[in-house]
Amino acid sequence: MVRKGILIVVSGFSGAGKGTIMKELLRKYEQYALSVSATTREPREGEVQGKDYFFKTREAFEQMIAKGELIEYACYVNNYYGTPKAYVEEKLSEGRDVILEIEIQGARKIKSQFPEAVLLFVTTKSAQVLKERLSRRGTETQEIIDQRLERAVQESEGIEEYDYLVVNDDLEICVEEIHSIIESEHRRLQYHMELVRKVREELKGLLKGE
Ligand code: 5GP
Repeated sequence: MVRKGILIVVSGFSGAGKGTIMKELLRKYEQYALSVSATTREPREGEVQGKDYFFKTREAFEQMIAKGELIEYACYVNNYYGTPKAYVEEKLSEGRDVILEIEIQGARKIKSQFPEAVLLFVTTKSAQVLKERLSRRGTETQEIIDQRLERAVQESEGIEEYDYLVVNDDLEICVEEIHSIIESEHRRLQYHMELVRKVREELKGLLKGE
C-alpha cells in the first residue's frame, strides 16, 4: 500500500530558526519535499534563485496569481509570498510529505483547503532570544527588524490556530520533535481504513472457520 503524503505547514516568528530547522530536517530525512515559494522580496546574500525562493517582480507575481498558479499567497512586510501549486500537487500524489514554510495567513488558507494538513508553530523560548537572533542575522535593517517584530506580535495572537508548538532551543531536539509529530500523524486511523476493513473481514472469516 502506498503511504499517502501529508501536507505540513511550518510557521513561526521571523528569527525563530525555521530555515535552519528545515535544512537539518531535510538533510536527515530525505523523504520530505520542501516547497519553494515565490516572492517579490529581494534576495538576501547567499540566497539562490529556485532553491531558497523563486524571486519575482511584482508584475510576474501578480501574473502567477491571475493564472491560478498559487495555492495560497499573502503579503508580509510589504512583499508578496506564495506557494506554487504544481509542485505540491505532484509530490503529494507521489505519496511524499510536503512541507510549506509559510506565515499565518497562508497557513489559514491551507487549512481551509486541506483540512487534514498539520500546522506546526515554531517559537523561541522567549521574545528576547528572538530579538537577539534577528539582530545577529545582520541581513536586515533596524526598520525591517522592527516591522518583523511587530508582525511577530500579531502572529503570536494566532498561535491557537495551530496543531503543534515546537520550541527551538536545541536544533537537533527540535528536528526530532518535528519528525516524530509527522510520523504520528501517519498513524491516524483515517489513513488506515483499508487495513482496518481487511482485518475485520479476516476476523469474521476466522469465526466462520475459513
Ligand atoms: P523571509 O522574508 O524571512 O524569507 O520570509 C518572511 C515570511 O514569509 C516568513 O514567515 C515565511 O514563513 C513566509 N513565507 C515564505 N514563503 C511563503 C509563502 O509561500 N506563503 C506565505 N503565505 N508565506 C510565506
